[in-house]
Amino acid sequence: MRALRLIKEEQLEFGEMPDPPAPGAHEVLVRVRAVSLNHIDLFGLRGMAFAKRKLPLVVGVECSATVERPGAAVSGFREGDNVVVYPGLFCGACPACKAGRENLCESISGIMGFHIDGMARERLVVPANRLIPVPSLVSPVDAACTTVTFGTVQHMLFDNAKLQRGETILVHAGGSGIGTAAIKMSKLAGATVITTVGSADKIAKAKALGADHVINYREERFEGAVRKITGKKGVDVVFEHVGPDTWAGSLLSLKRGGRLVTCGSTSGISAETNLYAIFQQQLRIIGSFGSTVQNCKDSLQKMAAGLKPVIDTLIKLEDFPTAIERLRGRDVFGKIVARLD
Ligand SMILES: [Zn+2]
Repeated sequence: MRALRLIKEEQLEFGEMPDPPAPGAHEVLVRVRAVSLNHIDLFGLRGMAFAKRKLPLVVGVECSATVERPGAAVSGFREGDNVVVYPGLFCGACPACKAGRENLCESISGIMGFHIDGMARERLVVPANRLIPVPSLVSPVDAACTTVTFGTVQHMLFDNAKLQRGETILVHAGGSGIGTAAIKMSKLAGATVITTVGSADKIAKAKALGADHVINYREERFEGAVRKITGKKGVDVVFEHVGPDTWAGSLLSLKRGGRLVTCGSTSGISAETNLYAIFQQQLRIIGSFGSTVQNCKDSLQKMAAGLKPVIDTLIKLEDFPTAIERLRGRDVFGKIVARLD
């Protein structure tokens, strides 16, 4: 079968690899329909894995698929069912897993596409408990934005930041995959959305998604614009995933008692923090990584009800290496998705 593999740091190779073995009793053989690109792919390319891994490694962390053959003991899935593959190898037995908090698993053994072979290949075998059914109204391309994009945003906004109707949120990088999802989900939840973009052409696009205020961070300091928009009060929630470039300004943008939720740090790993502001303003900083299975189910339900992911471009799997450079250069608005069918 065809697959896209990382053969050494920053070097991807599209080629043939052996088909997966027949599924075990509790496993399912699936045909991959679409793989979407994420910043975690870039971290993977750079070798910023959080654990050891062996190369070559099939890349791809987020996909949709169709069941080809369920294992003998699998009852919940039939041939032809559309699914998404949960990328974290959670144990299923620890207290966190039993509480449905798979992304806090105490003995997680890796992330597909990052530590072990991922989804950028035609077929794969996966344990049935890591498959999530896709509602019939959701296309394979949209479903390919579930586990890392919509699921992560669902987890950040609602489990972690506990965003409420009537609150104001600052969403950084409103043109990114998770930025576009965060704008749409926050609006659906009844929040006022302020977002930042890095080019003039993205302003109208972000407004079209429902953003109430759009700041071009290359033309004005976003924290000053946020103070102005909120009448010097600050926002209830900041949705962070940029890191050092925005960190100090993000904290300054919060109102007293505000919450900052972060799932990423695309501009670097260390940032100075004004501790005085943290305690004096009673700010809360919440780290968020990935999604739970329930977050993915909730996300798919939202898609079925019409909350569609923003798709920047559809590509072929072999164009993944070129497309990932667009992601690196932030030259995207929404998601880049590779179709395999
Ligand atoms: Zn576990």
